[in-house]
Amino acid sequence: MPYTYDDQNIFAKILRGEIPNTTVLETDHSLAFRDIEPQAPEHVLVIPKGAYVTYDHFANTASDAEILDFTRAVGKVCDMLGVAPSDGEGYRMISNAGENGVQDVPHLHVHVLGGRNMGRMVA
Ligand code: 5GP
Repeated sequence: MPYTYDDQNIFAKILRGEIPNTTVLETDHSLAFRDIEPQAPEHVLVIPKGAYVTYDHFANTASDAEILDFTRAVGKVCDMLGVAPSDGEGYRMISNAGENGVQDVPHLHVHVLGGRNMGRMVA
């Protein structure tokens, strides 16, 4: 079944400038900003600007340019936060999808978390 995008979701409002955010990085096709309720000293959300609900939706339907831009934006954010294991202490990257993934905001987002040991994943 095709995805239906709810353009009233919070991240759509952030993209339209209706809700403020703390931007870390903006590129042609992506936006990265700090999570409003950080779960770690560094907690940034990276989203595509396009109307995609989940990672599979994005990966299966976005253009190559959007996918490349988003992938590079995540990498750049890791560098900017200083959490890449090459010069930091590592990070966790998560993207929740749908009901079982316990996704609250139905616009694709990748959480980049770092600045502390994230513990072993339990599920
Ligand atoms: P999810 O559970 O969908 O993977 O995570 C949604 C995330 O969005 C949560 O970590 C939550 O704190 C964050 N969030 C929800 N509303 C806002 C907001 O208005 N601004 C920002 N910056 N983050 C938000």
